[in-house]
Amino acid sequence: MSDADLLSTISADSGTPVHDPATGELIAHAPAGDVATLEEAISAARAAQPAWAALGDDKRCELLNAAADAIERHAEELAVLLSREQGKPLNGPNARFEVGGCVGWLRTTAALPLEPEVIVDDGEKHAVLEYRPIGVVGAIGPWNWPMMIAVWQFAPALRMGNTVVMKPSENTPLSVLALAHVVNSVLPDDVFRIVTGDGEVGAALSAHPDIDKIMFTGSTPTGKAIMRSAADNLVRLTLELGGNDAGIVLPDADPAAIAEGLFWGAFINTGQTCAALKRLYVHEDIYDAVVENLVAVARQMPMGVGLDENNVLGPLQNRAQYDIVAGLVEAARESGARIVLGGDPEADQPGNFYPTTIVADIDPDNELVTTEQFGPALPIVRYSDVDDAIRMANDSPVGLGGSVWSSDPEGARDVARRIQAGTVWINNHGAIDPRVPFGGIKESGYGIEFGVQGLKGLGVPQVIMN
Ligand code: NDP
Repeated sequence: MSDADLLSTISADSGTPVHDPATGELIAHAPAGDVATLEEAISAARAAQPAWAALGDDKRCELLNAAADAIERHAEELAVLLSREQGKPLNGPNARFEVGGCVGWLRTTAALPLEPEVIVDDGEKHAVLEYRPIGVVGAIGPWNWPMMIAVWQFAPALRMGNTVVMKPSENTPLSVLALAHVVNSVLPDDVFRIVTGDGEVGAALSAHPDIDKIMFTGSTPTGKAIMRSAADNLVRLTLELGGNDAGIVLPDADPAAIAEGLFWGAFINTGQTCAALKRLYVHEDIYDAVVENLVAVARQMPMGVGLDENNVLGPLQNRAQYDIVAGLVEAARESGARIVLGGDPEADQPGNFYPTTIVADIDPDNELVTTEQFGPALPIVRYSDVDDAIRMANDSPVGLGGSVWSSDPEGARDVARRIQAGTVWINNHGAIDPRVPFGGIKESGYGIEFGVQGLKGLGVPQVIMN
């Protein structure tokens, strides 16, 4: 199948227009789903679930691996479409990387060991804990890593014997429809259904009495709305709600050695990543050297249209996000912060390009520091006492990830333990792994994804005791 064939198979003659965020050009129309389409998909997924569960774990894992093979066969078409719709370049840790991540995630999810757990076996009593399918899982996804996050939601759900109804973001429906088309070429009918549409369809999915669990990745306000609408049915929830991850650079770090890691920690996917480095605290002894080295790396990273093989940074996916980033940087400038790089977007461009921006000597209470910018603008705060840096890092309603940068990994671990976040990385930021549990604390949500713990979140525990 060529790029054009895949796109014409999944798109509609009329429906929701989808534009390329780099050029403003129309890519195609996505079918316009609604609550009636959703009803049909949920009832089909419900009917398909018993047979899917009855296939057994080995067969389901075999099919997840077959889905990975199918994605590999269509990897380039999928990457091209993802690049055009989301904006991320083909190269760098972007579109090809994301499609490769889908393959790796499926294979690893299929290989995770999930054995019955013997809890008591003392000669008198025997209690074993096993996991059963929940039923039909509703999945609601965002626009930043649309394919990868879709796999994070549907792969463990299917492995555990559930069927899935997924609503992609209205900003990136084509990427998810294309991925599902490829995956569904090897899965039984109705095991994995996509319904396009807006937030109203998402709200109807999360309130539906025939949905047994919701997997959601997106904003905290929408996460709260989902919790409210899921309450009547006591629907189980996994909520991954983004964050405002802090990085702390200790005085013993080597500014040149950490510069590239800091750059990709903050600017991966042009900053549109839930667990990206969104505010950086640097000790005064090495502050200027860290800023200088980071700017030097940033200057070497070309931004532009994703299909140009040279680029490693792209546009913001949508104009609303562009406006948020531009507004935060302008307010920081007006407050007296120093714009060391960027901050000067081209006016009247057809795309949503906001230049790589580094803001130094910024007040820790500035909004660019305290809110999630979700774009290519990194604020760098100067500190003199590490206790202060930890206090500022923790002074946030969210807690998804964090990082500590140091030449002494043991000392860095001590600081890491004091940071309020679901994951703290040492000398990198955001390196996730399908075997390693991932989830937020505070208003970053709850529930664990990935690894064996992630699988358990997509089953219901059952104890069998005699
Ligand atoms: P939202 O939380 O609004 O959207 C995420 C998903 O939820 C989309 O599929 C959306 O549908 C759907 N949705 C919207 N309203 C409801 C509802 N009431 N019930 C159920 N589902 C609903 O995120 P945005 O796209 O608006 O982005 C806003 C902010 O969220 C960003 O600025 C960023 O800070 C953060 N964000 C975090 C992400 C992360 O990875 N954690 C990813 C994306 C954004 P639709 O798109 O069709 O409206």
